[in-house]
Order: sequence, then structure tokens, then C-alpha cells
Amino acid sequence: MELITLKVFDSPIEAHILRSKLESEDIESFVFDEHSVGINMLYAQAIGGVKLKIRETDSERALSVLEEINNTKYTNDNEELIICPTCGGNDFYTNFKSSKGTKGLISTLTSFLFWVYPIYQKNVLKCKNCDTEIDM
Ligand SMILES: [Zn+2]
Repeated sequence: MELITLKVFDSPIEAHILRSKLESEDIESFVFDEHSVGINMLYAQAIGGVKLKIRETDSERALSVLEEINNTKYTNDNEELIICPTCGGNDFYTNFKSSKGTKGLISTLTSFLFWVYPIYQKNVLKCKNCDTEIDM
């Protein structure tokens, strides 16, 4: 049974969300290195993140699930389609960790000074066309 890495995450929580989706599609998957990253988030960079692995034989079905997720059109709380204000597109990277703005700058400087994981990063949608960040 050959396992292959389907996707790599910064956090075990995100890995388990996708693992649950795959299991709902009858695709068995395994989360690797979640405890190492859980002990210290900085280890994620050192060991290559939390890995979600699947059997090689399930790769085609798993990739179609990923494609379905990636092709999801994003809407706001009022079910209105979210459109990029810069280019008008609707193709976004989700859960993009942004450190832009004053809080992000302070957080980044603090993490460098005290050698700790950045205490403030907000999740945003990032436009795949023009890199514009939109608050979620
Ligand atoms: Zn855009």
C-alpha cells in the first residue's frame, strides 16, 4: 500500500477538515506530523507541514474532490457572489494567511524579536488573478 501526499497544511485542523470530506467520499486518508506541529507551530516549517496522505489507488478520486473544492464559487453571508474589486474575478485561494496592515507588521516584528510563532495572521481570500486580498 503506497501512500502519497495529497496536500500539505500549516495546521492539523485544516488537514482534518479535508480528511473528513474525503472520508465522506469513501476515500481513506491519513494525517501525518500533526502532533509534531501541534507541539510547536514553528516545527511546521522544519518538517514540511502537516501532510494529508492517501492511497495511490485513490489519487484520481481524491484529486477530483480537491478540484470540486477549488472550483467552489465563494459567497458572502447574504449568498451574494464574492467578486474581486480589482479584476472582477471569482477565483480565490482560501484561508490565505495575511500579515498585511499595522497589526500584521507588529506581529511579524514581534515574532522575529522573540522567536515565537506570529500571534496575528488573518485568514483572507486571495484573488488568483491579481493577488488582491479580501477579508472573509
Ligand atoms: Zn482579482
